[in-house]
Amino acid sequence: MPSSTSIEPLHRNLVGLGREALAAEMGEFGAEPFRARQLWHWIYNRGAADFGVMTSLSKPFRERLSARYELSRPAVSRSLVSTDGTRKWLLRFPDGEEVETVHIPEEDRGTLCVSSQVGCTLTCSFCHTGTQRLVRNLTVEEIVGQVMIARDALGEWPSPQDDRQVTNIVLMGMGEPLYNYDNVAAALKIVMDPEGLSISRRKITLSTSGVVPMIHRCGAELAVNLAVSLHAVRDDIRDRLVPLNRKYPIAELLEACRTYPGSSNARRITFEYAMLKGVNDSPSDARALVRLLAGIPAKVNLIPFNPWPGAPYECSSDAAIKAFSDIVFAAGYSAPVRTPRGRDILAACGQLKSASVKRRRSERVPARTAALALDDPRPVD
Ligand code: SAH
Ligand code: SF4
Repeated sequence: MPSSTSIEPLHRNLVGLGREALAAEMGEFGAEPFRARQLWHWIYNRGAADFGVMTSLSKPFRERLSARYELSRPAVSRSLVSTDGTRKWLLRFPDGEEVETVHIPEEDRGTLCVSSQVGCTLTCSFCHTGTQRLVRNLTVEEIVGQVMIARDALGEWPSPQDDRQVTNIVLMGMGEPLYNYDNVAAALKIVMDPEGLSISRRKITLSTSGVVPMIHRCGAELAVNLAVSLHAVRDDIRDRLVPLNRKYPIAELLEACRTYPGSSNARRITFEYAMLKGVNDSPSDARALVRLLAGIPAKVNLIPFNPWPGAPYECSSDAAIKAFSDIVFAAGYSAPVRTPRGRDILAACGQLKSASVKRRRSERVPARTAALALDDPRPVD
């Protein structure tokens, strides 16, 4: 597995190894195959963070394992809880890079919003993450580690439990998951394994800004739900909002959605649409959206624009959002307006980045920038 650091750790981390990789590692270690299966269960189902608790393994074997391996998660450098119960963890990796993971509790479920990259190479003009300079792919262990941190913090081991607080996963945190496909796929296989983290593919949604060549593969290999960040109905506007549109314009993107494996009326593709005042929020935009979606099993998620410091857009008015939603709804599509969650801790869609970068700057650069970092980061609603 690619390591994110240049310094080799003393102990190899077993968290992040898939079934085959763990079996191969144990084979090299001289352990019998059933030991790999027992370890798998302890790591991903019971959440063991220490070999000492693995009582089904003999003491000498546990000691041998501890001498060579570790079971580590990313370090939590900050954890915040919003007034609405949303939690945000700022995670720090050994190379000093950071990402954010957000848990959104609702009455009947709890959704974990997972990051796939540090920052994002795409530069959507309304997204805070897109303004971050530092970018790298997350490793498998860093992606799986986000789910394990949430399970640790919420006391949710062993994995298959009733009344869980993490019932759903959305890849809607920092980064473009289809630009880090291999690691995201390997991590999701661990997350979906019924004897692993045990979250069904039906409860997992991958959101993409429209990396057309990877969409089919995602459906065929992972069969997770797809969400597409559409945000505009005309190429000239989408080019400005989601610059990747210049490479894969709306017609190509929608064609990939039309043929997404496994989509049906029971498993619709979600089209995300951030409501930006005077940019994409008119009734004629809504009517054009309905025409574009014809023939696709679709639902529309209207996201009131979440402001961030220095953002060049404003959120549409409540009346404009309602009118837009009514038009889409009248055409037969579900078009809920997503209630912003965790805005007070900058955990809402598109607000991720601030804490990590501000902290990093305040740590590294004294004086003027450090003073800026002390400003209250909360957006004005
Ligand atoms: N990179 C992926 C997934 C992460 S973004 C993607 O773009 O789909 C998750 C969702 O939040 C996307 O639909 C994104 O367009 C949206 N988003 C980004 N910034 C936003 C903001 N400031 N307000 C509302 N939604 C935003
Ligand atoms: Fe990247 Fe998604 Fe933000 Fe665009 S909206 S910059 S693809 S994280």
